[in-house]
Amino acid sequence: MTPATLNQKPLNDANRLGLDYRIEATRFNYTGPIIDVHTHIGTLEASRLYFKIADLFGVTKTVSMTKLENIDGIWDDLGDQRDRIEFIAVPNYEAATEPGTFTTDWLYRMEKFREKGCRIIKFWAAPRGRDVHSEAFHLDSPTRRESIKLAYELGYRLFMTHVGDPDTWFEKKYTDAKKYGTKAQQFEPLEELLDEYSDVTWIGAHVGGWPEDLEFVQGMLDRHPNYVLDTSAAKWQVRELSKRPDAFRAFCGKNAGRVLFGTDIVANDSNIDFDLYASRYWALRTLMETDYTGPSPIVDPDLSMVDPSLDEKSTAELCGAGIGGDVLNEVYFGAADKILG
Ligand SMILES: [Zn+2]
Repeated sequence: MTPATLNQKPLNDANRLGLDYRIEATRFNYTGPIIDVHTHIGTLEASRLYFKIADLFGVTKTVSMTKLENIDGIWDDLGDQRDRIEFIAVPNYEAATEPGTFTTDWLYRMEKFREKGCRIIKFWAAPRGRDVHSEAFHLDSPTRRESIKLAYELGYRLFMTHVGDPDTWFEKKYTDAKKYGTKAQQFEPLEELLDEYSDVTWIGAHVGGWPEDLEFVQGMLDRHPNYVLDTSAAKWQVRELSKRPDAFRAFCGKNAGRVLFGTDIVANDSNIDFDLYASRYWALRTLMETDYTGPSPIVDPDLSMVDPSLDEKSTAELCGAGIGGDVLNEVYFGAADKILG
């Protein structure tokens, strides 16, 4: 597939190819429904633009990490379409520096999200969490264990987690292994929790946090039948999965029903921008379902971070995996539909 609208729009960091994403959105073969299981639709104003773009790209349902206080406004605005969005319980990251945000206030919020009918809860455990709070983000810290236990008692049976981060970050940002641990070490407490909470479905964000090593991720899936993945984080997935599109297609086929489409679109009042949101859908759909080979339209700062001789506006090579048929249906819709019920 070659884009039909190269160099027809002004260039920006989400659109180095000058694409008209409105037109490109109509050119995909797949026309069925899509569920995006991983977004951050932060505010009402941003949600209005977001849903217009979701419509263009066939996204019929969105699962979002949204501040508790902003849920009702977004739901009310959707009126009889409120089923289009389901919320994931998250701490109040806006108050990250206030005491209690990741301890007492988080436990309180978990209950309030549940009262609003939320079924999914996120346990973010990226290594950089150690810079935000000394222990609350470790999957095996007492604080974290307490919140996981409470989530279970409150009836949550879908736990999303972010374990790991790109290999590029371990190479350049997490060089202090004493503080952050190695990449492999991030997964040790997760494996324990997957066994301990075996009747909970765990969603490993960002291809389980290790798209660079699909063999490792396959091992996690094989060892833990209650573990599924989402495909979110467009820059990361495009950069890494494009290196092995055939392996990724085979991986999705082998694990049909356990790979869920997600983008990690962040939409809030500080970034309301058509190309920003649209580029994530265009790039990830192009990666999943087409045979496109060429530059990604999205600037990927990790490229010049790893190789400073590269231009800061470099974009990754995007190689479509050409997934189709029943496997694509499962990734885009079937797997999430089954899990969300
Ligand atoms: Zn996210």
